[in-house]
Amino acid sequence: MTIQLGIPRLPGRSGGLPVLPPRPSGVPAGLLDRFGRQATDLRLSLTDKCNLRCTYCMPAQGLEWLSKQAVMTADEIVRVVGISVTKLAIRELRLTGGEPLVRPDLVDIVLSLRRQHPDLPISMTTNGVGLDKKAQALKDAGLTRINVSLDSLHQETFESLTRRPFLNRVLAGIEAASAAGLGPVKINAVLMRGINDAEASGLLNWALEHKYELRFIEQMPLDADHGWTRQDMITAAEIRELLSQDFILTPDLRERAGAPAERFQIRRRNAGGAGTEGPVLGTVGIIASVTEPFCGDCRRTRITAEGKLMSCLFSSEEFDLLGLMRSGADDEELARCWQDAMWIKPRAHGKDHSGLDSPDFKQSGRSMSAIGG
Ligand code: SAM
Ligand code: SF4
Repeated sequence: MTIQLGIPRLPGRSGGLPVLPPRPSGVPAGLLDRFGRQATDLRLSLTDKCNLRCTYCMPAQGLEWLSKQAVMTADEIVRVVGISVTKLAIRELRLTGGEPLVRPDLVDIVLSLRRQHPDLPISMTTNGVGLDKKAQALKDAGLTRINVSLDSLHQETFESLTRRPFLNRVLAGIEAASAAGLGPVKINAVLMRGINDAEASGLLNWALEHKYELRFIEQMPLDADHGWTRQDMITAAEIRELLSQDFILTPDLRERAGAPAERFQIRRRNAGGAGTEGPVLGTVGIIASVTEPFCGDCRRTRITAEGKLMSCLFSSEEFDLLGLMRSGADDEELARCWQDAMWIKPRAHGKDHSGLDSPDFKQSGRSMSAIGG
């Protein structure tokens, strides 16, 4: 027997909604799924465009960008966030992209969101290019915190990873964000074998010195070139080993609360003399999406720049929330559609649910920049 979901069939990449058990009536408000998870964290992409070409994300020539008409306007973004907070119990918002700083109305968007939601934590993930000019305005508009992606402190390596010579601009952006009070600034780094993996300890030393919170992210199969391979990626275990040459890593036992990063307290190896441990210098996070997936405690829901709803980075189904909005749907209908789409969020990836390491895992048709990481 097949049961249709009680929501309109929306044009998605997969050609509409799959036929799955409907969300039973009586399920409480909020974005619950069939496995008892509740999404409280919204990742919203402001644009698919970017001014870098990171090899693990974009092809050298870039992607075919969405037209201006296809992308959510500032008013539409404010409406979508409003629905998520007032009707669906979203408690945290992250703005991302593509590169959010390339959107000319970014500061106005943050200002409008802050006016509507005085207490909502609003953070942003950015590559930092141009952040030095916008950090203070973003802070004044109400941005809470910032994550900046930085994979290398060496000009040549930075350029070979991002295909752009902008290291100094990124460093200036990070400094400006810190000075503007957008901290604690988190730094996201992806290690690539034979390219920047020798920099693991160097990046951590630099982050500790500046009081930035460094997080290493395992490279995921989300590059537009489909060049990811399991053998080539640097695993979380390897990252811990690389860092252990210079540091002592002790698991941070504080409640993880759905955070993707496993955190470790950091002490310098041999600090204070042989056989003694030096003081805790800070923490480092490792996001092991591939080898130690955390799908069981996922609290995310995602909206792409063109208003497609995705329950997961690796979803093959998308729901055209913006299309529904532009066809005149009211807030109640949009909220119901969002709930139904999240209800069928997969438990994990691959047929055996072992995640991205599953032998039958298939790379998504979208690259990271086209989803919003
Ligand atoms: N452009 C901004 C930036 O780079 O921070 C925001 C968007 S970017 C898609 C968000 C995050 O995704 C970045 O920290 C980036 O390093 C990460 N990312 C992109 N492709 C990835 C991949 N294939 N595997 C793991 N992380 C990836
Ligand atoms: Fe652009 Fe971010 Fe993708 Fe790099 S990771 S290409 S900065 S969207």
